[in-house]
Amino acid sequence: MFPTTIAGSLPKPLWLAEPNRLWAPWKLAGAELAESKLDATLLAIKRQEDAGIDIVTDGEQSRQHFVHGFLEFVDGIDFARKVEIGIRKNRYKAMVPTVTSPLRLKGRVHAAEARHARAHSARKLKFTLPGPMTIIDTIADNYYGDRVKMAFAFARLLNEEARGLAADGVNVVQFDEPAFNVYMDEVRDWGIDALHTAIEGLTCASAVHICYGYGIKANVDWKATLGGEWRQYEQTFPALAASRIDEVSLECCNSKVPMDLLGLLAGKAVQIGAIDVATEAIETPDEVASVVAQAMKHIPKDRIVVSTNCGMAPMRPEVAWRKLAALGQGAALARQRYG
Ligand code: ZN
Repeated sequence: MFPTTIAGSLPKPLWLAEPNRLWAPWKLAGAELAESKLDATLLAIKRQEDAGIDIVTDGEQSRQHFVHGFLEFVDGIDFARKVEIGIRKNRYKAMVPTVTSPLRLKGRVHAAEARHARAHSARKLKFTLPGPMTIIDTIADNYYGDRVKMAFAFARLLNEEARGLAADGVNVVQFDEPAFNVYMDEVRDWGIDALHTAIEGLTCASAVHICYGYGIKANVDWKATLGGEWRQYEQTFPALAASRIDEVSLECCNSKVPMDLLGLLAGKAVQIGAIDVATEAIETPDEVASVVAQAMKHIPKDRIVVSTNCGMAPMRPEVAWRKLAALGQGAALARQRYG
C-alpha cells in the first residue's frame, strides 16, 4: 500500500557538477566522467533506499538536462547551430540546437546507468525519458518542416530506447511531459498518440509525468498567473484515462490543482506529488500523509503511489535529502493510518 517513488532527478554530488543550478556543466571529462556518473548513480540509489523509497530511479545523474541528455545521442541534430526560442508558450527563452537531417539514434542512450542501477538495487526501477511533445518544444527544426511529424520521429526513437530499458530490467519507463500542461489541445490532437508510438511493444509499465515545472523563478512566476484553481489537468486527464499509458505522475502538493480532478484518471495508477520542489521548507510526515488522504477521496487506495511534484535536480542537496526522508516517513505514516 502507498509505495513511494520520486519524479526522477536528484541533485548531483559536488564533485560531479555544481549543485543548485540547471544545466550545470560537468566537472570531469572522458573516462573519468563516465565512471563518476555511475558512482553518482549508486549514491542516488542508496539515498533513495535509505529514505524508504520503493521504486527507485538513477536520479538522472548521467544527464546534464532531462531533454538534452537524450538529444545528445540522436543523429540529425546540429548542436553547433543553436538558436534562441521561447519555450513552453514563451514562458522562458532557451538556446536550443537545430534538427538538420533525419533523426536516428546513435546507439543506446541510457544503457550504462540503467544496467548499473539494475545491478545494484533489488527494488523496482523507474527510468525517465523526455516526452515527444516536450522535446519538440525544446528544439528548433530546419528539416521536417512540421512539428507534429518531428514529434513522431522522436517518439519512434524513444520507443527504441524504452524497449532497450525494459530489456535492461527497468520496471517502469516514464515520459516527462511538462508541455502537456501548456498545449492542452495538442495533447488530445496528437500528444497521446505520440506517447502510444513511444510505448509500442513495451514489455514493462509506462508512465507519463505532467507537472508545472521545476521550482525555478520562471515557473514560479508563471504559476502566479494561473489563477486560484489550476484546471489544465481537467482537459487532458480524460484523454489519458482512455489511453494505453499505465500510470500518471502529477503535481499535488502546495499546488492549486483541485484534487477532485484525480477522479478523471479512472483505471490508472497515480503517482501523486506530495513533496513540493519549489520551496526549501521541509514537509512533515503528517503533511505528506494528508496529501495521501486527500487523494484517497478521489482514487482507490491501491492505485496511489506517493512521489514528488517534480524533479529535485536543481535543489540544494541537503534540502533534497531531507525532503526524500520526509517522503518515506510520510508514506509510512499514511500506511499506518489508512493502509
Ligand atoms: Zn516535472
